[in-house]
Parts: sequence; structure tokens; C-alpha cells
Amino acid sequence: MKLILLGAPGAGKGTQAEIISDKLGIPTISTGNIIREALKSGTEMGRAAKQYIEAGQLVPDEVVIGIIRDRLAEDDCRNGFILDGFPRTIPQAEALDRMGIVIDKVIDIEVADETIARRVSGRRVCLDCGATYHIDYKKPKAEGVCDHCGSTLVQRKDDQPETVAERLHVYHEQTEPLKNYYADCGKLTVVEGQEELADTTRLTLAALGENA
Ligand code: ADP
Ligand code: ZN
Repeated sequence: MKLILLGAPGAGKGTQAEIISDKLGIPTISTGNIIREALKSGTEMGRAAKQYIEAGQLVPDEVVIGIIRDRLAEDDCRNGFILDGFPRTIPQAEALDRMGIVIDKVIDIEVADETIARRVSGRRVCLDCGATYHIDYKKPKAEGVCDHCGSTLVQRKDDQPETVAERLHVYHEQTEPLKNYYADCGKLTVVEGQEELADTTRLTLAALGENA
């Protein structure tokens, strides 16, 4: 299964991606995590991306398209994958098409902007393995500590309120048109994000024809 998860920043794409990944045994490819990883290890790509991420802007198309091209060529993507955070612009979607990659389904998780702003402020992330948590909705077993690797959880710089507003603006302007792009080829399913994580998961899995 080749799957794209669409939705505003903080709509819960990453969380759903992790769950589907475990269930179907296919990897999640998160451009956000790959870029943050590069930032942390100080590669040239990371240094180039830093100013964009911290301002809540998108990293240039050619950079993320390159990242995805390399990553999808790896062995573990043979039987399918979940794209979390890519494509985010029409040119990125067109690049994916040009790579000859045939996507099976696109799930769009819809959450109102007001809800997003509230949720994102409680988000915490593991700087080591990229796992995400929420101080109310998805608590780690021990406060401030990653369940997977034991590292410290932090708030992302771009999860501060001013940057979130800019990310939402960019989302509506550049990413939302992808809904029509994928609706036009009959691949889009819309899932209304729910208050409870488990309810959103049930709807997402149902959209894939899987049981919770
Ligand atoms: P979220 O989904 O919560 O917005 P991500 O971790 O997916 O967070 O992305 C964080 C940042 O990384 C984005 O604001 C953007 O700067 C950059 N980024 C990630 N994916 C892309 C992409 N496909 N195109 C351009 N920039 C991207
Ligand atoms: Zn971790």
C-alpha cells in the first residue's frame, strides 16, 4: 500500500502514520523528521533548511523532492510506505507522479484551525527518535521521557504560537490545493479528526478497509 497522509500541521498525521505503519508493516516517511534529523547532525541540507523551518515556511521543493527520491529508492519501501508531510505543494505532487510512483490512497485528516492551535501547544517530540507525544492526548509513560528510546522530550521551536499561525497560513495557501489534486483522480478520502485519538484512528483504519 502506497499511502499519503494530508492535513494541517498538528492534525495528527504523524500519530496516525505510526499506527498504520505498525499495523501494515510498512515504513513511514516523514520529511519533517528527515529534515530535523539533518538539522541536528548539521549536514549541509540541514543548515539550508533551518531558516525555513524556524520561520514556519516550507523548505524549497527541489530539496524535499530530492530527499523523497532518495528515501523511496531504499529497500524497505518496496512493499509500500506512508508519506507523512509530503507532498505539501502541487509541484511536489507532480514530481512524485513523474517518478512513476502510483499512490493507492490519500487520507486527509481535517481539523479546524482553532483546534490545531490548541493541540500543537501541547505537542512534545523526542529529539533522538522523532516520536511525538501530547501532554493531554498522548502522554508518555513517564513525564518528559520518550517511551521508545528514553531520551528527553522537548517542544519544537516551530510549535510556538506565532510560528504555528504562519504554518497554518502556508498550509491553506500551498498544501490545501492538494485535496482537489487527489480528489480529481479519485484517491482522496476525508477523515474528520476527532477529539479522541482512538476515534480518529478507527476512522482512518476504516478508510483503509482495516479493523481497529
Ligand atoms: P507538521 O506536519 O506538524 O507541520 P512536519 O514535521 O511535517 O510538521 O514539518 C515541519 C517543517 O518541515 C515544515 O514546517 C517545513 O518547514 C518542513 N517540511 C516538512 N515537509 C516538507 C515538505 N514536503 N515541503 C516543504 N517543507 C517541508
Ligand atoms: Zn525517542
